[in-house]
Amino acid sequence: MNILVTGGAGYIGSHTCVALLEAGHSVVIADNLCNSKRESVEKIIDITKKEVTFFEVDVTDQEAVDVIFNHNNIDGVIHFAGMKAVGESVEIPLTYYYNNIVSTMVLAKACQKYGVNSFVFSSSATVYGDNAAPFVETMNLLPTTNPYGETKAMSERILSDIAKADSEFSVSILRYFNPVGAHESGLIGEAPNGIPNNLMPYVTQVAKGTLNKLRVFGSDYPTLDGSGVRDFIHVVDLAEGHVAALDNLKKGAHIYNLGTGQGTSVLELVKAFEEANGIEVHYEIVERRPGDIASCYADASKAERELGWTAKRDIFAMCRDAWKFEKNYKDLVEIK
Ligand code: NAD
Ligand code: UDP
Repeated sequence: MNILVTGGAGYIGSHTCVALLEAGHSVVIADNLCNSKRESVEKIIDITKKEVTFFEVDVTDQEAVDVIFNHNNIDGVIHFAGMKAVGESVEIPLTYYYNNIVSTMVLAKACQKYGVNSFVFSSSATVYGDNAAPFVETMNLLPTTNPYGETKAMSERILSDIAKADSEFSVSILRYFNPVGAHESGLIGEAPNGIPNNLMPYVTQVAKGTLNKLRVFGSDYPTLDGSGVRDFIHVVDLAEGHVAALDNLKKGAHIYNLGTGQGTSVLELVKAFEEANGIEVHYEIVERRPGDIASCYADASKAERELGWTAKRDIFAMCRDAWKFEKNYKDLVEIK
């Protein structure tokens, strides 16, 4: 299939482009590079030795998206493009609602216009809100605490309603848990702008000496060691989950958790990183971070049953590959 990958220059999108190309699909990337660099498209080509078509466009721009559909025989869409920083979404909610929801509508509209019935959407475990883990796809969604989460819940609803009204439309809604790690080549990975918000890029930057010390947020959660528990998933496993979702699309809207099904605490992750890479990570325990929940991990059985997909790479592979990318990656921010 010829797949339009929006946000394909980004972290998860670039790994998914590699997986798609390796599985024999072809790829058209649409990305406005607001949180990524043009070079990641070159790296996708380096890794796969395959051609990629790239458009630097904003996918909220209906005319620009129409041009892509008009000239590229698109068979399906994987929609990654979106803004994802939870804290920032509280500060600039309109930007988040506009970018993340309008992009979904623009793409769905183009799909209708050009008769494209295969759609895969990047959602997030954040839509489960305060439900108790393990999270199951059948749970009622609870309000999330931030506009980012709301954009995911709303996009899910929009796509589900379209699938209800149009019996030809197939959409797979993928709820990601905590993607970490990088491609084993060390050529692509997570390269956040500025000081990272997420745990793993923070850990790798502390290990490299770019940042002084990790702050572990909270030691009094009702978890095995008091630190938060998350379902970390290797980004290459996640990428392969998208190929499985695409290969097993069926009419209607179908929701899948993409996680390992296993919870790992923040302190366990730090220890695994130290063991996997033989390097110490300095940390201190501080107050809880507002808005965090104690435990978040998937019931990943539906994806296994229906997509034939499970995550294969363990926490050590995640830590090893994250570190390999960090060591390779030259363009880090200077932090005083
Ligand atoms: P990322 O920021 O690395 O990638 C997103 C890409 O989309 C970037 O390359 C950015 O330039 C592009 N983009 C944003 N808005 C755009 C627009 N209007 N038009 C064109 N391009 C645009 O983020 P990621 O971690 O790869 O996340 C991909 C998707 O997965 C996002 O929708 C995100 O919300 C979702 N997600 C991510 C995580 C995570 O922890 N990384 C977890 C759950 C869900
Ligand atoms: N975390 C931490 N220090 C950091 C960043 C994150 O202790 O500098 C913790 C955070 O409190 C949570 C876990 O690591 O328990 C995962 O956080 P992240 O922001 O990576 O992902 P989230 O689960 O919030 O989407």
